[in-house]
Amino acid sequence: MNARRYYDDAYTTEFTAHVQEQLTHAGQPAVVLDASYFYPASGGQPADRGMLNGVAVADVIVREADGAVVHVLDAPLDAGPVTGVIDWPRRFDHMQHHTGQHILTQAFIRAADAPTVSFHLGVEIVTIDVDRADIPPTLLDEVETLANAIVAQNAPVRAWFPTPAELADLPVRRVPDVNGKLRVVGIGTFDFTACGGTHVAHSAEVGLIKVLRTEKYKGMTRVTFCCGDRARHDYTTKHAILADLAADLTTGYWEIGEAVARLQAENKALRADLKAARQALLVSEAAELWDAASPQHDARIIARAWVDRDAAELRPLASHLVARAGTIALLGLAGEKAQIVMACADDLMALDMVSLLRAAIGTLTGDPDSRRGGGRPSFAQGGGISADQSALQAVLDQAARDVLSQLT
Ligand SMILES: [Zn+2]
Repeated sequence: MNARRYYDDAYTTEFTAHVQEQLTHAGQPAVVLDASYFYPASGGQPADRGMLNGVAVADVIVREADGAVVHVLDAPLDAGPVTGVIDWPRRFDHMQHHTGQHILTQAFIRAADAPTVSFHLGVEIVTIDVDRADIPPTLLDEVETLANAIVAQNAPVRAWFPTPAELADLPVRRVPDVNGKLRVVGIGTFDFTACGGTHVAHSAEVGLIKVLRTEKYKGMTRVTFCCGDRARHDYTTKHAILADLAADLTTGYWEIGEAVARLQAENKALRADLKAARQALLVSEAAELWDAASPQHDARIIARAWVDRDAAELRPLASHLVARAGTIALLGLAGEKAQIVMACADDLMALDMVSLLRAAIGTLTGDPDSRRGGGRPSFAQGGGISADQSALQAVLDQAARDVLSQLT
């Protein structure tokens, strides 16, 4: 009863069976069949999908109490005979990756002395964690070469329940502590392991085994890999990206690295040039602003609000201005987070830019006790408040009049 047909045959995708039990699993209708080819999630391999009498199978799980295979459904199913159809592309992808994992795991043992600790087969990512902290690229290449050589041998893959005597003679890599008969999966004479999963019949069906990346994980190495059509898809995607890049850079794909390095060097040089040019521009802008300001009581006051310029320019612009004796710079940038810089030349020691700045911000916020902004008496900065250009210009002009009254 409740036979797991996929143990002996991973290739049947359509079958008939009888509903043995109707139940509810986590609020969803479910059935147990007298026999099924559906694979339930276990051993790192996800469950199959498909249909039972046209009803979608949402999940397949093993009931802990009695080991029954429970088919969780999208809709209830009547008692009686059923026709099951398994989603073959998904199943075959799992078969390729599971057999590929066994081959790769044995290759890691033989070439890198790194036994596999865990296996995860996901829709997007397939990984094994191998018990070795560091795997140099040359060693990884050896592992991958060995794994693909086993694929090319087209070794027969056999899954069976050996007798205890037979089992004792088999070099099984991992014998779990289970009651009852143990299922072994053998790949030629290369690898034997205890496993309940679905596998391809011959190793060549795995297709390419490609390691995509390795990363350190809990003192071990997590290896992400792909097989079969996923490997082809990965190749296709990356090839398309490289071809586009090569076309954009008008070079061969093998020269993309050099082309990018050249672009990065060029970009660095251009940034340096741009920075120098911006600095020179600020010096001449400061000179123009200073020339345009008419002297009042031996001082020149530059009060100016902008929109749409780089806030980082306010400080250096103010510094260039107040480098000239008797100069006061009251500069602002309007916007949602307006910025104000107030600075005076060193010969105007009687002035306090901090209190002047806070008064201006207080006018803008309507809070005369505002403590926003600070600095030193000759150089203050603040803002972060919303102010449009005309409002900002108005408070800067008021600050200019206040300064002037202090100078007279
Ligand atoms: Zn396995």
